[in-house]
Amino acid sequence: MKILVIEDEIKVAAALKKGLEAEYYDVVLAHTGEEGFFLLNTQTFDIIILDLMLPGRDGFEVLSTLRRRGIETPVLILSALDAVENRVRGLDSGADDYLIKPFAFPELSARIRLLLRRGRGDTLLRLKLADLEMDLVSRKATRGGHPLDLTVKEFELLEYLLRHQGRIVSREMLARDLWQVKARSTPLDNVIDVHIARLRRKVDGPFEHKLLKTVRGVGFVLREDRP
Ligand code: CA
Repeated sequence: MKILVIEDEIKVAAALKKGLEAEYYDVVLAHTGEEGFFLLNTQTFDIIILDLMLPGRDGFEVLSTLRRRGIETPVLILSALDAVENRVRGLDSGADDYLIKPFAFPELSARIRLLLRRGRGDTLLRLKLADLEMDLVSRKATRGGHPLDLTVKEFELLEYLLRHQGRIVSREMLARDLWQVKARSTPLDNVIDVHIARLRRKVDGPFEHKLLKTVRGVGFVLREDRP
């Protein structure tokens, strides 16, 4: 998942980059709206984090320009301007969310996940981690270019883990979101564990680098461990 951060304050931009990279996002920084446009012309992003007070064209102008150009990437405004009229103006100009500075990083992170789940960007039709890829249109998954023969449930499970890549997915989350069961139970935990085990054999079994990990007592995480 790739994030464009348009923010002129060097320190804030650097802190955002560091925090988001720790959560396994790819982060590209732009310090002006112009730089942002240039990057948007040459690369695809899953989400844009936009500051409002920018030198030259301000965030409102940047936002309305990119919407006019048909760029539909979700935009999260991050701004010290907390007046209601600014929030309304931001949302009216085509922003998907608005967060006031100073903000708590976990909140930013949660809002990003929400925007990504809403999935407006076309890039979300393809999910990727290391050499593991999923094409949600053709319903195909591959690892290192080799097709993975997944059942419908395994495909769903892998998609869910990939959408949450780098973050722990608990059995509660899987029960709720993939089995539509609210309360946890031992039989369901066992069913989940069996599915995870089968998926792991297919996704990781023959490959040297293991991506699907168990976090003891908590859940599972799909992650590429960097040296
Ligand atoms: Ca600023």
